[in-house]
Amino acid sequence: MENKLKNKAQKHSNNGLDVMPEELDILKHVLNHSIMVTISDEEGILQYVNKKFCEISKFSREELIGKDHPIVNASCHSRDFMAKMWDTITSGKTWKGELRNRAKDGSFYWVDTTITPFLDGENKPYQYLAIHTDITKQKEIEEHVHHLVHYDTLTGLPNRTMFLDRLTQGLAQAKRHDQKMAILFLDLDRFKLTNESMGHHVGDRLLEIVADRLGQCLRKDDFLARMAGDEFGLLLTMISRDEDVILVSDRVLKTLNQPIQIEVQEIMIKGSIGISIYPSDGDDTETLLKNADLAMSHAKEKGKGQFNFYSPRLNNKLHQNLKIESALSHAIERSEFKLNYQPQICLRTGKIIGMEALIRWERPGVGLVSPAEFVPVAEETGLIVPIGEWVLRTACAQNKAWQLKGLPKISMAVNVSAVQFKKEDFIEIVARVLNETGLDPADLILEMTESMLMENTDMTIKQFNKLKKAGVTLSIDDFGTGYSSLGYLKRFPINSLKIDRSFVNDIAQDEDDAVITTAIISLAHNLRMDVVAEGIETEEQLIFLQENECDSGQGFLFSRPVPADAAEALLQKIRWSPSLDKPPSHKQLGESLSEGSF
Ligand code: C2E
Ligand code: MG
Ligand code: MG
Repeated sequence: MENKLKNKAQKHSNNGLDVMPEELDILKHVLNHSIMVTISDEEGILQYVNKKFCEISKFSREELIGKDHPIVNASCHSRDFMAKMWDTITSGKTWKGELRNRAKDGSFYWVDTTITPFLDGENKPYQYLAIHTDITKQKEIEEHVHHLVHYDTLTGLPNRTMFLDRLTQGLAQAKRHDQKMAILFLDLDRFKLTNESMGHHVGDRLLEIVADRLGQCLRKDDFLARMAGDEFGLLLTMISRDEDVILVSDRVLKTLNQPIQIEVQEIMIKGSIGISIYPSDGDDTETLLKNADLAMSHAKEKGKGQFNFYSPRLNNKLHQNLKIESALSHAIERSEFKLNYQPQICLRTGKIIGMEALIRWERPGVGLVSPAEFVPVAEETGLIVPIGEWVLRTACAQNKAWQLKGLPKISMAVNVSAVQFKKEDFIEIVARVLNETGLDPADLILEMTESMLMENTDMTIKQFNKLKKAGVTLSIDDFGTGYSSLGYLKRFPINSLKIDRSFVNDIAQDEDDAVITTAIISLAHNLRMDVVAEGIETEEQLIFLQENECDSGQGFLFSRPVPADAAEALLQKIRWSPSLDKPPSHKQLGESLSEGSF
């Protein structure tokens, strides 16, 4: 091999080896005992390794020669790092850097490396000479220093410096991916007193135990650090729900609250937590830290042993939501839900053509809770799935029951949450409920949201088509509040659009809302869809909608959402209203309304 090398070197260089024999000995010694040398061909296949390289890598020469370089450094560096190195040397340049290699026994060693390509007449590398110096010891010292700088010696936790590093990194990532992040500041209550009265060794032991317990409260990606004395910092990244922050805080405080046994003494310790959240409470590290600290001081003022959000709005909302969440989980089995029904009126004939089922929650000790308050919580927790199924079943069964009583056939509109719709078995559930209740699919309207049209479009189209095929009517609720363009709608098999209440509310006063409403009506008609107006409260609104050929409507002007028996009474009256051959005038419709038929 050495001959072969010499030949090649002579072939490509004009300089012969110009060394004295004694110098050659020194060189030989260096080559064998102090530096590590490898030579590989243009493909990276090892052609030569010296003794020192074998000694450090723990491979024999035979095991290395003819092998590709990953034998010594597979998965030790990122793909990017390796690609850059190869780009440099294949372009004929020398590469210098530090490499982490794996020895035959699996242990790692670090080498400071210079790789020099040998170039042929066309300046193309035909061989690479790598000179390595073992820097494992130096690296160990560096790591030790890094540890000292970044970790707390007492608890072994990362320290404030490391926390700030992580915070900066986490913030950049949260910004890039549009994610939320929470910073929790924990300060032990009355720690100073314990430390002074029981002695520092007890104080130290206490901090170690606290650090240990805190570590057990964290999720995989959370980060915990000891900031100073009795202060700890927690970083929660990728939080999808504000409630998660409460859960972690709650868990931390509860764990701290367990008595701690040190020697013969039992010590009770509490902590106060301040929380700031990116992006709502600041968008730079300093502000977020300052606000978490401030929130922590307020927690102490409020009486210690508590957690406190920087934002008062979040404080209230989250505490309430958490209570709603736990109360909601039992609401179905305790039959606390009921449905109200709001009639939908044909604006040409004045007849009730349908009912919309609207959920109500009779919460014990609180009273009636509006869906606006609990549906978002139910969606976040996934509880909307069983709740939604209950709504669907109850509403379909009710419609069937009315039909069996001989009441006029109407459609039943049921609101579907995007969370429910995304479940794989949604269509199956709809089919099962229709089957079980015996309701004709044509008498069920599913009110979908505009957001479903925007997300995961192809999938949505498929699902919509399946529902359509099953004979169910599809409607888009609160239309105009999302961002879907009407052109977009063409792709979906939708039967009707419900113009959002906010437009209807102002049609008589606001020129823009009037224009939008008429545009929605005419475009929907072009696409052969019906238009339903929501929230009709005044005759003026009704007249406007009739004049602009809106098909149907619902609103307080006709009836508020009412319990099943009252809805049934309204349906009974439908029979008594004169059957109109011609569309009713506004006056007629108005009269029938004032008679209270709707
Ligand atoms: P939505 O589906 O747009 O329902 C119409 C809402 O407008 C109902 O509020 C209804 O009471 C109200 N409303 C009807 N007419 C008028 C009017 O003339 N003036 C005014 N100011 N309001 C009127 P509700 O019952 O509080 O429901 C609010 C929202 O909660 C619903 O909006 C719907 O998005 C959701 N929701 C209700 N029930 C369910 C359900 O069973 N499942 C799901 N996923 N969501 C539901
Ligand atoms: Mg609705
Ligand atoms: Mg609506």
